[in-house]
Order: sequence, then structure tokens, then C-alpha cells
Amino acid sequence: MTGVKLLFAHDTECSLIAAAALVNTAGRDGELLPDIAALDAFFVRYSYSGRHEHTDAELHAVRELRPQLRRIWYAEPPEIVAVVNGLLLEHKALPQLIEHDDEPYHLHAVPRDAPLATRIAVEAAMAMADLVRTGELSRLRICEYPDCDNVVVDLSRNRSRRFCEAGCGNRAAVTAYRARRAAGQS
Ligand SMILES: [Zn+2]
Ligand SMILES: [Zn+2]
Repeated sequence: MTGVKLLFAHDTECSLIAAAALVNTAGRDGELLPDIAALDAFFVRYSYSGRHEHTDAELHAVRELRPQLRRIWYAEPPEIVAVVNGLLLEHKALPQLIEHDDEPYHLHAVPRDAPLATRIAVEAAMAMADLVRTGELSRLRICEYPDCDNVVVDLSRNRSRRFCEAGCGNRAAVTAYRARRAAGQS
């Protein structure tokens, strides 16, 4: 983080990216959390820490979060606020500053030994609360590639992100390139 000012706090940005990635595990590419190994990989990739059971129950609880979180991308602000407040209330969120591993002080709102699905839900809710408070809900988008309904979090400074992480940016570039070539050849 040398010199580059983040739009949001580091933990907020990480939580938003992880929430979008989780929603997109039930997206255009089918079921991307088919088993415990896939959840393990997700856990590592998005730098989760704390309790991780490696059980089917944990896997199912995490999968069940996806439609709930996806709703946030489609909802109007009052409904988003209701979802966020509902999650914080349901899980008895109590924000506390904490330092662990190599991360600087950041907020946790449930204990580290709370179930993984609970922690993901509450982290997402806290991050969404930041978007609401800063008037930045427009950063939540749906991928613009035809027939892709993956969710996107646009954390770019100039709000230029249009495609999801599942390769749609490349697909769009290839399509545009072919269209240019075809136009040039005719
Ligand atoms: Zn943490
Ligand atoms: Zn996409």
C-alpha cells in the first residue's frame, strides 16, 4: 500500500472482492464450489483466517449465502439497508478493532471462531455498510458481457470496470477485435 490511496479501507475492499467472488461461484461457469476442496481453495485465495471446519455443513452454509448476497447487487438502497441491518442483527455483530497475521488494525464484528459462513456474511454486510455510508452503491454492478450475470465490484478510480473476473473483459476485447477486423476486410 505504498503511496496508493485506497477508495475504501483495505478490509472493506477485500470483503467486497471476496463477496463478489463468492456470489460468482454460482454464476456463468456453473457450480464453482462443488466440494470441500473448492471451499478450501476459496478460503486461501481470499485470505480468510480463523475457524475453518472443512465439513459439508460448512460448505453448504457458505453456498447458501450466495443468493442472499446476490440480492444486494440487484436491490434498491432501502432493501440493501434492510439486508445489511438484518445480517448484522442476525449475527449479533459487534465491531471490534483487531490485528492479526500481517494485517494492520481492521474491524471484525464477530469472533474469529464464529462459523465461516457467519464471518463471510458479516464481513460482507460491514463492507456494504461502507458503500451505503459513502454513497458508493453504484460500485456494485452486473457484468456487461452478453448473457453473463456475474456480479462486479468496481473499485477502479475512474469507475471504468464493466466486466466480471471470469474472463469477460478478454472475451469482450476479442469480440471487439474481430469486429474491427471484419469491418476492415469488407
Ligand atoms: Zn481479520
Ligand atoms: Zn462476466
